[in-house]
Amino acid sequence: MIFPALSNIAGPSAQKIVLRVSANAEKNIRRGHPWVFEKSILKQSRRGAPGELAVLFDAKRKFLAIGLYDPTSPIRVRILQSEKPAVINSNWFQEKIHTASALRQPLNAPHTNGYRLVHGENDGLPGLVVDRYADALVVKLYTPAWIPYLKEICGAFPSYKHIVLRFSRSVQKQTAALQGLADGSMLTSHTPPSAILFKENGIIFECDPINGQKTGFFLDQRENRERIRNLSQHKTVLNVFSYTGGFSLYAAAGGAKTVTSVDLSLPATQAILRNIKHNQQLPEVRAAKFETLTEDAFKALTEMNAGGRKFDLVILDPPMFAQNQTQVEAALSAYRRLTQLGLSVLKSGGILAQASCSSRVSAERFFESIHQAAQAARRPLQEIERTGHALDHPIAFKEGAYLKCLFAIA
Ligand code: SAH
Repeated sequence: MIFPALSNIAGPSAQKIVLRVSANAEKNIRRGHPWVFEKSILKQSRRGAPGELAVLFDAKRKFLAIGLYDPTSPIRVRILQSEKPAVINSNWFQEKIHTASALRQPLNAPHTNGYRLVHGENDGLPGLVVDRYADALVVKLYTPAWIPYLKEICGAFPSYKHIVLRFSRSVQKQTAALQGLADGSMLTSHTPPSAILFKENGIIFECDPINGQKTGFFLDQRENRERIRNLSQHKTVLNVFSYTGGFSLYAAAGGAKTVTSVDLSLPATQAILRNIKHNQQLPEVRAAKFETLTEDAFKALTEMNAGGRKFDLVILDPPMFAQNQTQVEAALSAYRRLTQLGLSVLKSGGILAQASCSSRVSAERFFESIHQAAQAARRPLQEIERTGHALDHPIAFKEGAYLKCLFAIA
């Protein structure tokens, strides 16, 4: 496969950087943690560029690990391999990608062709995400250290027609490290489609891989969406923070009478209307009544409550509230406020589904705060289920666990 956008990209230098790290970092690496922070580096052979290979030694000069060097991030090295030395080359990358693909094999069915193929650290490829949408891939980099290896990575997926490159916000700021590549670059030579259609559990969605949030869709909620389908028959459903209507379409497909979606983003709510059109082959979707509001969620919920509106099922799936440790308490307070607002528009005996994607907020504290808010609102919850990660979003280290969702009757 030819990747025109990558023709001028320099590969990594043959000369590795040699690092000695602190005892604490050594302990973490031996336990399998994939990050080495700048402050734990005691000695370094020379300066390096993003993506150079760094070989790490312990205090006794014994081999510890090999990883990707990134001078632009406080996470200075992301570990590729520890314990035994390895040659990091195309074969090494291919093998990792094959292992990750094999894990997803159960998902690759005719009714689902959108899922995460590579989940960064959790698949042994730290800082690299690859999402599949039918015959398109979105490769998203959380460190510029992957740029020198893009040809190898893309070459491991020869059967995909479109490959789009995306950068995390922090990487986008490091323009000098990007070797002329822009967020949203097409790596394959085909004309970029403005919207890709893919299937998730038999429901058709479009995603905009270039301008959409994340990689175009929130694939991590697939199983929770399926749960909502199974809970929606004959119900009036409110989907708050709906994005392009993932939960909304599942609710309709599950036989919901009415589905109200709320999101602040106009491109997202406009896409809901198109996603409804894409699913007119489903009689339940044809029969459902949809309402779409482009509004701030807190304001919309407050107004609905003031107007006395009530629903049978309320879904709350907000964006990440805590970017770092200092924001955890504020995030928990926002989750409590949301629970309260969600319950204020939920009929007695209705179902609340509330999710969090903040990795800094532990599942325990999140669930506890929902219960606290429900008790304060005199709507004690009877739990149906607590859910976490799906197969294509495995968890291999502490920070890898971020998604949690509570389903409860109130
Ligand atoms: N449930 C969605 C994913 C939600 S992601 C799905 O299954 O696809 C979070 C969404 O919250 C994004 O679409 C973002 O546009 C929206 N958002 C962020 N802040 C908001 C606010 N204050 N009010 C309403 N929507 C908001």
